[in-house]
Amino acid sequence: MSFFTENHYWAGRRCQKALYFLAQEAPATSFAVWDVAEQRRLLRLAAPLLPGPITVIAGDMETRLRQTQQCLKAGQAMLEAVLAHDGWLAEVDYLGPHPHGGWQIVSVIPQTTISPTARQRLAYQAKIVKAAGVDLVQVGLVTLNPIYCRAQRLDPSSLFLVEPNSQVGFHAVGELEEALDAYAQLLRASAPASIPLGPYCEEGGDCPFKARCWAGQLPEHNIFHLYQLSRQKAFKLYQAGHVSLQLLPKNLRTRNREAQLYAVQTGRPYVDRPALREFLGRLEYPLHCLDFETVNAAIPWLPGLSPFNMVPVQFSITHVRAPGAELEHEAFVCTGQSDPRAPMLDRLKSSLGNRGSILAYNAAFEQSVLESLVRWDTVRQSWYDSLRPRWVDMLEPFKNFYCYFAQQKGSCSLKEVLPAVTGRGYEDLAIRDGHQATQAWLRLLFDRLSAEEEARVRQDLMAYCRRDTDALAWLVQALRAWV
Ligand code: SF4
Repeated sequence: MSFFTENHYWAGRRCQKALYFLAQEAPATSFAVWDVAEQRRLLRLAAPLLPGPITVIAGDMETRLRQTQQCLKAGQAMLEAVLAHDGWLAEVDYLGPHPHGGWQIVSVIPQTTISPTARQRLAYQAKIVKAAGVDLVQVGLVTLNPIYCRAQRLDPSSLFLVEPNSQVGFHAVGELEEALDAYAQLLRASAPASIPLGPYCEEGGDCPFKARCWAGQLPEHNIFHLYQLSRQKAFKLYQAGHVSLQLLPKNLRTRNREAQLYAVQTGRPYVDRPALREFLGRLEYPLHCLDFETVNAAIPWLPGLSPFNMVPVQFSITHVRAPGAELEHEAFVCTGQSDPRAPMLDRLKSSLGNRGSILAYNAAFEQSVLESLVRWDTVRQSWYDSLRPRWVDMLEPFKNFYCYFAQQKGSCSLKEVLPAVTGRGYEDLAIRDGHQATQAWLRLLFDRLSAEEEARVRQDLMAYCRRDTDALAWLVQALRAWV
């Protein structure tokens, strides 16, 4: 039996072509609107606050459908129930009998406010549950309490805000009827709908099909790569037919954009040698290339934390003692068993020493992380202040176009700059970006991993963070060759 799921619903809301790609070509693609694993962890934690006793529905979809029907017959509350109507499936966080008759559903969302997304999710679930013949009388929401501050032990009854009778889900149910019918028709189409590119490709994060979809409709160097052009203007130009970067109207040309055009038209990097020389002349050896990884978990995992508070959990430093010297690397990785902040500060103090430039990419972030550590341990304030003159932001030469490579495609992100400038990248790593690193950290902190799996995830995280700091040393080497 094949069904359409909430994932299809989210794809359909994005655009008709996304729905077609999902159904016909890439069924494993996720359109999830938040981290599903994190949402599940919250559900398990919130379950004791919901009326029980509760049966956890598990297994493949067919089994879960069957078990859900059995529990409905028995009047039994359940977690992760599955209901179907007219080819559409709804996975419901909590479904239980209402004390005054009928049934209620509750959705647990990893947010501190009720967003439009949460409303739509609840509406989708309510629609399918009602259409499946359940006498649904109440829909509820569980959100995170933004002012909860963890004491020694985590207290779920204070962490969560339970709103058992939220009307938000019922309001949108009517609008769904037609939408689901239209989506179902599209899902049976034999070719993708012809959809122009639009803001919906990027709203709430990039569409998972953006890379393939845009590559098929735009030249390699296009108006969306134009440096510091608002998305609104870029879409307007695209709609007016100004697509190629090489045909850029004169009124949009600035110094940095001229540098972009030079690189695209000549195939050579644009280099402002005096500016680059001045920048590199400010570096003082030994160089200490620094990068932090942080976690903003929904569940406060340390005393004193509230939901989504940021905690640094890892750093990497690549030292370069002198120009041309071998890179030396060191790392700190939190154990997950205790508060990492004091030992992290101790290690940073000894690792950064008292001389040499401290390099970071977008240094304001690394400085803010250090500041948060020092706020937490104020006896380190004078040490932190002493570091101020030593910071060098490696973003500066790229943000200010001291050099520009056409392969950057208008981006100054390290993930674009590193391959463009050095030919090296992140493809050989298991973790390749900050989002994946965060997911890995959440698994380490909250999931029960085998010792082998835990060691592997830690290795992957260390390799990723190290790449970010080796990258800075490689960029310095590469830039020196241009002056
Ligand atoms: S990238 Fe845009 S047009 Fe292409 S499938 Fe996604 S939302 Fe639709």
